[in-house]
Amino acid sequence: MSKSSKYQLYKSNKTSTICNDSGSYYCNEHDYIQNYIHEGDTFPKCDRGGRKHNTVWFKFNN
Ligand SMILES: [Zn+2]
Repeated sequence: MSKSSKYQLYKSNKTSTICNDSGSYYCNEHDYIQNYIHEGDTFPKCDRGGRKHNTVWFKFNN
């Protein structure tokens, strides 16, 4: 039982899902650093270039 679905959810956070780990996140497509997202907030669409799109956010660790 080494598979961990919780770890996968932690590592990738799609637009409109709920943040469960406060921190700075970036867009998978743009390396665009979003403002600090707090636990309980909903992940927004990326608005890089003025065109909003659904994406996957990754936590910025450094
Ligand atoms: Zn983007």
